[in-house]
Amino acid sequence: MSMDLAVIGGVGFFLEGLADRIETPYGSVKVNLTRLKGKRVVFISRHGEHHLPPHRVNYRALLWAARSAGAARVVSVNTVGTMSHHQVGSLFLPDDFVEFTKARTNTFFEDRAVHVDMSEPYCSELRDHLAEAVRSQGLEPFHGVYVCAEGPHLESPAQIRMMRQFGDVVGMTGYPEVVLARELALCYASLCIVTNPACGMNAGCALKMSDLIETMDVMEKKVTEVLSLAAQSLPEERTCRCKDALPKAGL
Ligand SMILES: [Zn+2]
Repeated sequence: MSMDLAVIGGVGFFLEGLADRIETPYGSVKVNLTRLKGKRVVFISRHGEHHLPPHRVNYRALLWAARSAGAARVVSVNTVGTMSHHQVGSLFLPDDFVEFTKARTNTFFEDRAVHVDMSEPYCSELRDHLAEAVRSQGLEPFHGVYVCAEGPHLESPAQIRMMRQFGDVVGMTGYPEVVLARELALCYASLCIVTNPACGMNAGCALKMSDLIETMDVMEKKVTEVLSLAAQSLPEERTCRCKDALPKAGL
């Protein structure tokens, strides 16, 4: 396979295409092969056929599958709660992250010490193209820090008070994708959809799944258009530093 872009989608976001499977050392991954504005795109469902909860998602298999498909660039679509009063339906492009996860394998290198650089965790080239695509949809993209919570429960008011000290939005799936992508020298960016205020940021804490699905229904077409425009505008050659994440042999 020789894909131009991999898209990892979660709850409420899906790209139709030709169904296929990619075998990885971490398991088999179901994918859809499609085209967006002429670019070859592999869509990878984050939660898979068994709808795994965030802490059990097979993150290594997802990133490995993206690379096996020949995609040097990965855009992850994530839903987030805002801790900074963004409007529901806003699009947010993280430029950094903090994580409070507990039980996730966050490296491909379990038998030797490999310390990939995280001074710029998200690919600036990919982010720039996504930001431009968001603007072309009449939206202003927000930037800031993504906080990853372990879940699967939603956060408590005290957890959100703590996390607000560290970042702008909170989600459960952005980590360890971001570091695993770097370990494979892939370009990685996250396109976050604000689906709700985080707990305690408005009257109560009751996030309804129906509200989340409703927001995603409204946003799905817009997000697909953003991905299409970004895919179309990206240059063939990568000019960023992501490809040099592993100066030696790597994986
Ligand atoms: Zn890059």
